[in-house]
Amino acid sequence: MEPKTCVVTGASRGIGRGIAERFGEAGCSVAVNYHSSIDAAQDVVETVEDAGGQAIAVQADVTDLDQVEVMYEDVDEAFGSIDVLVNNAGINQDVFFSNMTYEQWGAVLDVHLDGAFNCTQTFYDDIVDAESGRLINISSIVAKGGNLGQANYATAKAGIFGFTRTLAHELAREGSTANCVAPGFIETSMVTDLPEEIIEQVREDTPLGRIGAVEEVADVVAFLASERSSFITGEVIDVNGGMDL
Ligand code: NAP
Repeated sequence: MEPKTCVVTGASRGIGRGIAERFGEAGCSVAVNYHSSIDAAQDVVETVEDAGGQAIAVQADVTDLDQVEVMYEDVDEAFGSIDVLVNNAGINQDVFFSNMTYEQWGAVLDVHLDGAFNCTQTFYDDIVDAESGRLINISSIVAKGGNLGQANYATAKAGIFGFTRTLAHELAREGSTANCVAPGFIETSMVTDLPEEIIEQVREDTPLGRIGAVEEVADVVAFLASERSSFITGEVIDVNGGMDL
């Protein structure tokens, strides 16, 4: 991947952290967005810089458009216009639908869908103005098959498919691309906090027989962010160990 200017939402931990660090290895300038984990975000900044990139930590709750606009100003001041936006920030609040409250439904949709709207709307002109801008959204295998206790999460992640495909049409007119990465079960707290018997079941259901590593998602995101992906748009790239075979 060529050195580019990138924003990664939810980059203080997990998959977002892996993406930010992968961008750092490529010499990118990386805005490490976080919600509340300031120390973790600062740690990511140091790792990116140690790897040869430049980085800043930028706080913003992606559900709050005002905060995202302040983040834009911070990023613009530090690095100028960006080339790549990765909408990665996410939460889950798992509960069977019969017991799901409207608040649990809304909280998850807000972070994934309103978050993607707020960040993409705010950075849209930068992506258009880039030589070949890149919008990369992180969805999930759960968007395809659903999952027990995840009606809110699966709905949000399926929405990301439609969002990505529509943005792909619109950005194509500007020479930019929009793609989606749909991970299976990846080793972050979102998965390692699950009961051990569920994790064991996931391993059994995955043809490759294991949980994925954040680096395995980050490498695909880095490819989509690079010039090598120049004729790929509107795609959903699965990174799931064959789980949906
Ligand atoms: P994670 O380890 O729990 O990290 C979540 C990240 O999102 C953190 O950096 C967190 O920031 C940030 N975040 C949460 N709410 C936010 C908000 N309102 N505004 C800004 N940032 C916010 O999660 P992960 O497993 O890496 O997941 C990353 C993405 O991959 C999510 O979209 C998730 O749905 C998706 N995904 C994960 C898996 C998996 O198996 N792990 C599989 C498929 C898809 P703070 O640290 O500041 O709270």
